[in-house]
This record gives sequence, C-alpha cells and structure tokens, in this order.
Amino acid sequence: MEIYDLIIIGGGPAGYTGAIRAAQLGLKTAVVEKDKTLGGTCLNVGCIPSKALLQSSEFFHEAQHDFAAHGIRLESVKLDLATMMARKNKIVGDLTGGIEFLFKKNKVTHLKGFGKILNTTTVEVTDANGTVSAIQTKNIMIASGSVPVELPFLKFDEKKILSSTGALALDYVPKDMLVVGGGVIGLEMGSVWARLGSKVTVIEYGERICAMMDTDCINVLTRSLKKLGVEFLTSTKVTASRSVGGRIELDYESLTDGKKSSIQGDVVLVSTGRKPFTDGLGLENVQIEKDERGRIRINEHYQTHHANIFAVGDVTVGPMLAHKAEEEGVAVAEIIATGHGHVNYTAVPSVIYTHPEVAAVGLTEAEAKAAGIEVAVGKFPFSANGRAKARGATEGFVKIIADKRTDRIIGGHIVGANASELLGEIIVAIEFGGSSEDLARSFHSHPTMSEVIREAALAVDKRQRQG
Ligand SMILES: Cc1cc2nc3c(=O)[nH]c(=O)nc-3n(C[C@H](O)[C@H](O)[C@H](O)COP(=O)(O)OP(=O)(O)OC[C@H]3O[C@@H](n4cnc5c(N)ncnc54)[C@H](O)[C@@H]3O)c2cc1C
Repeated sequence: MEIYDLIIIGGGPAGYTGAIRAAQLGLKTAVVEKDKTLGGTCLNVGCIPSKALLQSSEFFHEAQHDFAAHGIRLESVKLDLATMMARKNKIVGDLTGGIEFLFKKNKVTHLKGFGKILNTTTVEVTDANGTVSAIQTKNIMIASGSVPVELPFLKFDEKKILSSTGALALDYVPKDMLVVGGGVIGLEMGSVWARLGSKVTVIEYGERICAMMDTDCINVLTRSLKKLGVEFLTSTKVTASRSVGGRIELDYESLTDGKKSSIQGDVVLVSTGRKPFTDGLGLENVQIEKDERGRIRINEHYQTHHANIFAVGDVTVGPMLAHKAEEEGVAVAEIIATGHGHVNYTAVPSVIYTHPEVAAVGLTEAEAKAAGIEVAVGKFPFSANGRAKARGATEGFVKIIADKRTDRIIGGHIVGANASELLGEIIVAIEFGGSSEDLARSFHSHPTMSEVIREAALAVDKRQRQG
C-alpha cells in the first residue's frame, strides 16, 4: 500500500504552497481538495478576483474622472460589465490551472474530493461520485481555510444578501449597496461597486473603519472614499433585516445615542469577517481541539496535540491573509523534512487595495506605545514628490516608525497609490533588522514614488530634504 509522507487537506495558499515546498524537499506529498479547482479562497473567490475587479473599476473611474486633466478627452465611457467579469474569470482560470501545472511539475498528487481525518495516519477521501478511499500518511497538514461569517438575520442567498463571493459575481450594477462591516473586504468590494455606479453605504460597528490600521492612514482613506460617494455609518449596529418590494431594508441602531433608524438597498454585502472551516474534517476522531473562535489549537511548531498533525493558514490563529498562510505551509513542510521552519510574524504585511491603498507592516504608533516602546516617527507626503505629481497621485504619505533607542524600524505605514508595492522595501528592511538610517542611506531611483520612503526615513531624524 502507498504511504505518503504528507497529506495536506485543502488546496489554498497554505496547502498548495506547502505541498510544492514539501515535494521540493523530497517528501511524497498529496493535496486533497474538495472544490473543482485548486487555489482556495484566494485564487477562486478572494485576493485575485477582487483585485481584477478593483483594477478594472479603477480604470473605469479614471477614464471618467481623471483622464481629462491629462488632456485626454473621451466622448463617452461605457461599462461592459460582462466583459469585465469574463476577464476576471479568465484570470482566475489561468491561475488555478497554473497550480495544477505546478503540482505536476513538482510531482504533488492532487486527490480530488473531501478529506476527513480517520486517525493520525489515515485520511479518507470521498470524491464527487461518492467513491471513498482511505489513504495512509506519516503526516497530515490541515489547511482547510475559512468561510464568510453569516449573520442570523442576514442569511446569504448571493442574490440580494451577498457574501464577498456573491459581490464578486453580480451581473448588474446595483443602484445602491449596503455594506455591513467596514473591514478590508467590505471596503474593497464597496469601492468596486461605488466606482461602477452604485451608491454604497458602509455600516460599521466600531468607531471607525479598519480599527487595527494606522489612524492617520485610515483618515486619508475615509476622506477619499467619501469623495467617491461612499457613506459611512460608524458606531452603528444592524439589528434586523426584511425584504420590501424586492429591496432589502436594514434596521440599525446608533451605539452612541441609541437612535434607531432603517435604510434600504438593492443588495446587502455582509462582510463582518470570516471563520475557520473545519466541518466534516473528522477532528473528533483524533480529539483535536479548537479555541473559542473555532481555530485549531497549535503549538509554535504548528502541531496540534498530535506531533504529526499540523494546522496552518486561516484555519488556525493569526491574520487571515494569503501570504501568512503560504509562509506557514512552507514552514511546516520544512519542519517535517528538515526539523526547522520559521515565520517572522513581526513582518507580516497587510493591505487594503482601495484607492488610495493602505499598506502596513509591523507596529502602529499606538501598538508601540502599548508595548512600552519609545518611538521616533518620520512622515513624508506624496504631494512633495515629483513622480507622484507627474502621475497625479499626490494623495497620502509614508510613515516610518523606529525604535528611538536603537533606530531599528518596527513599523511602516503607507497610504497612497501603489502603497502595496511600495511597502516591499520596508518589509525587507524589517526582515533584515534594518534601521531608518539604512533606508535613508539607500539609493532610490529618481524620480520614483519610493523616494517618499527614503524621505520618511530621513524624517525619523528630521533630515528630510523636501516638504
Ligand atoms: C474577497 C476576499 C479578498 C481577499 N483578498 C486578500 C488579499 O488581497 N490578500 C490576502 O493576503 N488575503 C486576501 N484574502 C484572504 C485570503 O484569501 C485567505 O487568507 C487565504 O485564502 C487563506 O488561505 P488558506 O490556504 O488558509 O485557506 P483557503 O484559501 O480558504 O483554502 C482552503 C481550501 O481547503 C479546501 N477544503 C476545506 N476543507 C476541506 C476538506 N475537508 N477536504 C478537502 N478540501 C477542503 C477548501 O475548498 C479550500 O480550497 C481575501 C479573502 C477574500 C474572501
């Protein structure tokens, strides 16, 4: 009988990346995936389709509002939503097919079906025809990911009450969209539909949107989204919903003064978070424990209480991000094959791909203060940068946070066009234990928007040249 070194349950970023690394290290590896395509949430209904629509809708908005300033006059700009969606679907198809190719190239076995742990060395796979096979393995990696959280009075039908999956696949532009939850997914999908013409209202329980991110960055983003026409109801709790003449009406209550009100929309996007997915995994067969939020409990080596059963990605603790999931998958493959594997959690970036984008790594000023670290902060605006002016992208700034005692960079926060790409050098600086002086002394091509990072690094020591 064939015995695998590693069976991975789930073919998302954690699973497929871990599988490829395991195979590269010589482990006989298989991935069990229940869905038709590999790539998990990220490639099929997450990171990639959302970024495809964000890009297309940004072009649509720019063509209408920004091209004229460049001396480009368009008689009329028309939306062809079907083509926009087909383009998104093609990108998803290309990338998920690419993982199949990588599996073949690296000799990873793709087991199509639902995976269930029977005991510490057996995974049962049930395929689409109901055929069941029991497969033997030395190690198991649980990478079963997460699913959207549903509210009891807002059950997803993906027509009127949408999860992010439904919001990625609408075949018309709703007149108005109510977004319940002002986190990353709500703001990204809200931006897409606002740019395409929907009146978007974001209803957020907290005092402000994206509470975990740098306050100054979020203030810039909020201003910009309001300019786009997005309305925000913060400190507001949605309490009930009903269908009224084909529209959805939500009751809500202000958490500041208790005032009750209601609002109607063509559709509601519920983006109040995601929860780990462990249904049918057979955790009870091996007594694997979950915490109070349903996340599989692991130690610092990603092991459950069985040394050969690991959990990585969205199904366990930590930020629900594709790159975090990937790194954990790789770390477990390396731990199994070599005994060593590591993820540097101080350098996990997070990004909101709106316009402007918000990108962050490391600590905010507030978090540093709470941790008792005295900081020196350098901040520099894009409005003083030549390339940003040439591009018409002067909104926003870069903020570098250094430990005042050592000058070591402990945080970087950017709000502006392409913030996600610009953040890269700050991530690397943190990974290398770099100081603001290191960034300030590094060449930055002129003219580029990355010069703002250098100026912010110089500003840590109040040595910025412009602005
Ligand atoms: C709209 C949206 C946008 C996002 N944008 C970003 C972004 O820009 N950047 C970012 O970093 N993150 C983003 N994310 C989050 C990102 O998609 C997740 O963090 C990431 O996919 C987690 O990877 P994973 O491998 O842990 O789980 P998943 O990607 O959820 O993959 C888990 C896989 O396991 C399979 N599975 C589950 N149980 C079983 C079983 N018993 N048997 C067989 N197969 C099983 C599932 O079918 C799935 O394919 C976004 C998410 C959404 C919803």
